[in-house]
Amino acid sequence: MAVTQQGKISRHEQKARAEADTRPRRTISFYRYVQIADPKLFRDRLLTVWSSLDCFGRIYVAHEGINAQMNVPLMYWDQFDAWIQSQPELRGVPYKVAVEEHEKPSFYKLTIKVRSKIVADGLDDSTFDVTDTGTYLTPEEMNQYIDDPDAIVVDMRNNYESEVGHFTGAITPDVDTFREELQVVPEQLRVHKNQKIALYCTGGIRCEKASAWLKHNGFTNVRHLKGGIIEYAHQVKQQGLVNKFRGKNFVFDERLGERISDEVIATCHLCRKAKADTHYHCKNQICHALFIGCDACVKKQGGYCSRWCALTDKAPAPLKKWFARYYNAWLRQRPFKKTRLKAS
Ligand SMILES: [Zn+2]
Ligand SMILES: [Zn+2]
Repeated sequence: MAVTQQGKISRHEQKARAEADTRPRRTISFYRYVQIADPKLFRDRLLTVWSSLDCFGRIYVAHEGINAQMNVPLMYWDQFDAWIQSQPELRGVPYKVAVEEHEKPSFYKLTIKVRSKIVADGLDDSTFDVTDTGTYLTPEEMNQYIDDPDAIVVDMRNNYESEVGHFTGAITPDVDTFREELQVVPEQLRVHKNQKIALYCTGGIRCEKASAWLKHNGFTNVRHLKGGIIEYAHQVKQQGLVNKFRGKNFVFDERLGERISDEVIATCHLCRKAKADTHYHCKNQICHALFIGCDACVKKQGGYCSRWCALTDKAPAPLKKWFARYYNAWLRQRPFKKTRLKAS
């Protein structure tokens, strides 16, 4: 077994083990803004219980609450849910269930981190009323907003997310982070302060903060999609509504996306010609850039984002070490804008 520091098993090993574990799993996400007195203690509690149930995922805990993306073996689902309902901080929290299941595992390990905030927004929460959020939009209302020429629909996610999928006619700011988005949007919508505005994001958590922030910035009619795109996709199916989301919903797990409509709206970053919306991480670990590739290009380039990456990855170890230091700043020729995934 490949062991890294402190007896932890390597990512490769984790992946191999997770893939060998074929028990069906349910992929869910949930969040809640709730006062957590001792985040470290809370984290330890989660870790003990969830690892005993063989859950995988990425979870952030802070004084302000919890933000979780994870999967649960179906055989333990009832136990998992019973435990959640027994916790005062979590009781009744709405789960958002992933659309595509069992295709490939959404996570390979369980990571629970204590953070200062559950979403990195760069805002000082003491300077505005974070509880003054917008009211929710149902999927049906969201569709009405999209059809309403006087309403403005804003995608609160990053460029690499909206690139592969977004609501018809939505404004999709060209930003790499949520922090940046919160700076850009009030400025961009400045002249629309009294118009109807609908915000949306992946699972709804970013809009809680964003709607309060916009209201603080003088916007009078801000609402946001409840449960985000994930819940919208479910409700649309269940209620037989018209789906107005085009393409894929980018998700922050190993799958990197859930297909919502059959339409492919993005273009391959390598050939810039073929329609494609599958994200890959460059196989060169020192690059690891996120890119969209068509089947032909991915096959031709062997999973690398560029010929240069393929070349340097085959270099001898000492040379690679040297590359690693200068790679992203100097050496790599960039065929497209560099993006690395950060937790959102
Ligand atoms: Zn291509
Ligand atoms: Zn690369």
